[in-house]
Amino acid sequence: MTIFYAHKLAPCAGRSRPSMNFQNITICGGGNAAHAVIPVLRKSFSGMINLFLPYGDEAARFNKLIDQKRHITATIDGMLLNGRPDKAGRCAKEVCQEADLVLILLPAFAHEQILRQVVPFLKDTAIIGAIPARSGFEYAALKILKDNKRENMTIFGMQTLPWACRIQEYAAKVDVLGTKKSVGMAAFPHQVAPELAAGLAQILGLTIEPLPNMLTLSLANVGQIIHPGIMYGLFRGKEKTKFRKAEIPLFYQGVTREMAQTLQAMSDEILALATTIKNMDASIDLGRVLSLKDWLLYSYNESIADKGSLQACFVTNRAYQGLAAPMQHKHDYYAPDFQSRYLAEDIPFGLLVTKAIAQLIRADIPVIDEVLSTTCRWMGKEYIREGLLEGKDLKDTRIPQNYGIANFKDLAVY
Ligand code: NAD
Repeated sequence: MTIFYAHKLAPCAGRSRPSMNFQNITICGGGNAAHAVIPVLRKSFSGMINLFLPYGDEAARFNKLIDQKRHITATIDGMLLNGRPDKAGRCAKEVCQEADLVLILLPAFAHEQILRQVVPFLKDTAIIGAIPARSGFEYAALKILKDNKRENMTIFGMQTLPWACRIQEYAAKVDVLGTKKSVGMAAFPHQVAPELAAGLAQILGLTIEPLPNMLTLSLANVGQIIHPGIMYGLFRGKEKTKFRKAEIPLFYQGVTREMAQTLQAMSDEILALATTIKNMDASIDLGRVLSLKDWLLYSYNESIADKGSLQACFVTNRAYQGLAAPMQHKHDYYAPDFQSRYLAEDIPFGLLVTKAIAQLIRADIPVIDEVLSTTCRWMGKEYIREGLLEGKDLKDTRIPQNYGIANFKDLAVY
């Protein structure tokens, strides 16, 4: 593996100044999030929108259907928004060359392959970001920029996807079930974040809070707590249980007092990591790594009926209502789905990155270790061996060590 030392990058010097006057946007991905963002963008953006769909026969399928349906309709807060891309294709050169802004709206496991295809064709002034970033996006993105001699470009990531959304009909209809009150965003170089957040807020019609650095984004990736933590609580000791349809547990509303205690302990361990880092280098601002409860209140305030406890914030949050745990249908029963994205995304691109950061700063995270040990076993993956990040499947994760970040000094740059 090529070792990439981000600390040898000059964070600002010699960079092409990115333009926030976006005229041409490329969206990568054809899933729920990409379907939602096209009509949302069209509400206030009159420039060019291209869609990059390299996966399978998606581009051909999308183009055939969008010609029939004419546009994608999003239902959002009772409002109907329409939009269609100007061009959709599977060839990066065709749909990325002119982009001022590239939005990657894909599961984290697809980020790296998309970046490798897109980056060689981008202008130096283009800005490229992932929504949501999950953890460690910055390590992969900056390494790929460096490999392509494009290290002067600007990258960014958002803390979560601002919309809960589901495709109703491919290339035709998407339901936006809720929009977060505010979403955090960090950039590299860090200084660009305020201006970029304002530019993105304008075209996406959102409130976007600039975060001080990308390390905040990785540590404050709340999906890494919520998804593996609830899976652990719902299914520990019930791995082999055969559920009838009516017995499938609600995911968020199924959070018990005991599960909330585990989630709280995971959140406390991440906050303690932030404090340790701050004590090692007072110039690193991790003040926006919030506790899980504070984040729920920040993101969902009005949707939460009872704000009294962490458990109540989950079970009385309207945005989480009725969402069931991921299950596999097995002929006459249902079994917990341990290959679901709640683990497949939030362990290798979430909790393991936190474990790796803890290892770099020599901090203990016993509750996260327990959740990791159990959920990795369920996934059938060997990421950890005898408590250490030495498993054979570790190469498929976004831990900083995979990108040559071997000590605190290297980590601190992000
Ligand atoms: P999705 O499952 O709808 O995305 C599927 C799309 O991903 C496919 O259409 C294809 O375009 C692309 N894809 C899949 N595998 C690929 C590969 N190997 N290479 C290239 N492209 C590939 O996902 P989504 O619901 O749009 O979610 C996007 C991200 O947002 C994920 O990280 C998800 O966890 C997060 N998120 C989604 C929601 C939501 O409500 N949809 C809510 C919170 C967070």
